[in-house]
Amino acid sequence: MLASLPPIVDVYKLAKQNKTLQGDLVLDKMPRIARLLYSNQGRVTVKLSFTREYGISILTGKVSAEIELICQRCLEAMPFSVVLDIKFGFRNKHERKAANRNEFTDDMDILIIDDGNIQLSDIIEDELILALPLVATHEFDSCSASQFIRKKRLVDNGDKTAKKLDATSKPFADLKNKMKR
Ligand SMILES: [Zn+2]
Repeated sequence: MLASLPPIVDVYKLAKQNKTLQGDLVLDKMPRIARLLYSNQGRVTVKLSFTREYGISILTGKVSAEIELICQRCLEAMPFSVVLDIKFGFRNKHERKAANRNEFTDDMDILIIDDGNIQLSDIIEDELILALPLVATHEFDSCSASQFIRKKRLVDNGDKTAKKLDATSKPFADLKNKMKR
C-alpha cells in the first residue's frame, strides 16, 4: 500500500522542485463524494507531477479510483473503477502577465492562488465527482432487482404464476434496514 499523501501541498514549491507525488487518498477525507458511495472501502490512488511551464506552475496527474457506488435500482453496492488524467495550472497575481493566454491549449483550468497551498483531496474529489455516472445502476441482468422487476411485469400482465411467486419471495424485505444505514 502506498503512503498517504499530505492533505495540503505547496504547489509553487513542488513545481520549482519538479516533484512527483504518489500515494493514496482516503475517502473519509472527501465528504462530498463519500455521501454518494455505498461504503468508504474504496481506494483512490494518484500520481501527480508538478512542473513549471509557460511561466506558471502546472500539475499533471493520473487518478485511479476503485469505489463502490449505490445501484439506484437495487440499492446494493456497485463496483466502479475509473482512471482520470488531470491537468491544472496555478499562478499568482504577479504571474498573470507572464502567462499569455494564447500559449495555453484548452486542456487545463488555470487557478489563481496567492500562496501555493492547495488541498489535494479537494481537487481530486471535484474531478472524481464529475466522472461519476449520472445514475449508477448494475447491468440489468446482474442487478438483484431485475428478478423482482421481471416478476412485477408479469404480475402487471396478469400472470397468476408470477403472483404466487411474488407472495413467497420478498427480495426487498430488508430494504428499510438498508436505507437506515
Ligand atoms: Zn442493482
